[in-house]
Amino acid sequence: MTRLLLSALLIVAISSCSQAETPACSAEDNTVLCGASPSAPGATPVILNRSAERSPDQMPMGWMRSTPYEQKPHVASAAGVGDNARVMIVSFDGLRPDAINADIAPTLQSLIDGGSYNPAGLAEIPAVTLPNHSSMVTGLSILDHGVLVNASIEGRIQHTTIFDVAKEHGVSAGFFVNKGKLGYLCAEGEADVRRITGDVDDIANECANAIRENDLRLIFLHFGEPDGAGHSQGWMSEPYLAQVTRADAALARVLDAMAERDVRKDTLLIITADHGGHDKTHGFPIPVDQHVPFILNGPGIAAGRTLTEPVHPMDVAATALTRLGLPATSARDGRDVVEARDDYSPDDTPMEDPMLLFGSLCGPVPWLFLTATLVGTRRVNRRRRARQGRSNLRSEAPNHQ
Ligand SMILES: [Zn+2]
Repeated sequence: MTRLLLSALLIVAISSCSQAETPACSAEDNTVLCGASPSAPGATPVILNRSAERSPDQMPMGWMRSTPYEQKPHVASAAGVGDNARVMIVSFDGLRPDAINADIAPTLQSLIDGGSYNPAGLAEIPAVTLPNHSSMVTGLSILDHGVLVNASIEGRIQHTTIFDVAKEHGVSAGFFVNKGKLGYLCAEGEADVRRITGDVDDIANECANAIRENDLRLIFLHFGEPDGAGHSQGWMSEPYLAQVTRADAALARVLDAMAERDVRKDTLLIITADHGGHDKTHGFPIPVDQHVPFILNGPGIAAGRTLTEPVHPMDVAATALTRLGLPATSARDGRDVVEARDDYSPDDTPMEDPMLLFGSLCGPVPWLFLTATLVGTRRVNRRRRARQGRSNLRSEAPNHQ
């Protein structure tokens, strides 16, 4: 109870701080600044690097993490894992799950229908662009990677990324993004093909051409829309939905290029967003800002399955590395989303938690939503660890036949 009280108090503090920042994004300059207020000219961005200073069990506020510190087991025996596997991660900047349907986003809807889907993925808080994309490519929570600012930062991120792991193991990678600040996540030379351009159609063409001309096994593709239209015209407005449709069509062209090369059937698609939004902004600890779509589609993935276990941006890195048969130890806050596998057999222990349901009903009261979500996620993770422990014991038990 004391812990819960402390949690609530700290969350109120974080919530107040976040709201005071007035998250905003310039529609004209969406390649540079979006979300939380940029640092003043000449100021040094705030980049925390706590994990480099402390061992995990020394980390403060460990209760806030949505996943445990210890390294997760990674299963490498599922279908489509290993040398022939390919992964494409696609991030639609600012895409809300309720903007997806067969009329507005037919490509995404067909991938949902043919794959596994969680319509309430949980973006890290603050729900803004650079911090959440940092989690996607490192597999670290915001508290661990420490990238709190949402502005262009010199240099490169101070943690191992999926591109580092891919390069180390000779896996060819492509990096295609619409916003210049995301270049911080993959410096020049860290991917075999690296393109940054501000237009959705241009970046899709760059990606499609690279797929035709190179044998890329890991692709990270980012569409800057519908975030831009959300800031200029409002989330869920007609112009916003039109940009969802435009980015959806751009993705279809990239998938066509994969099909031409006959690699689509080997490719796991992980499609998500960095945040949602409301009115003309985002970054607040409320469901419409924090909930993002999380789609998995490809070999070994169940069709038509709705995922019920919590998913986070860190799971993108863990799932991608696991699928490629690469070490996922650097993505220690993420989990391979095994619930999406077609050979997944759920334990009898239910993973849903009443606190998560309660949290989803508390949108109008941000601190209550946050508290319930964090408490519910911790309880689910505790049960999941217990289940994993039982599973390990069973697999390690001697055979007495
Ligand atoms: Zn934005």
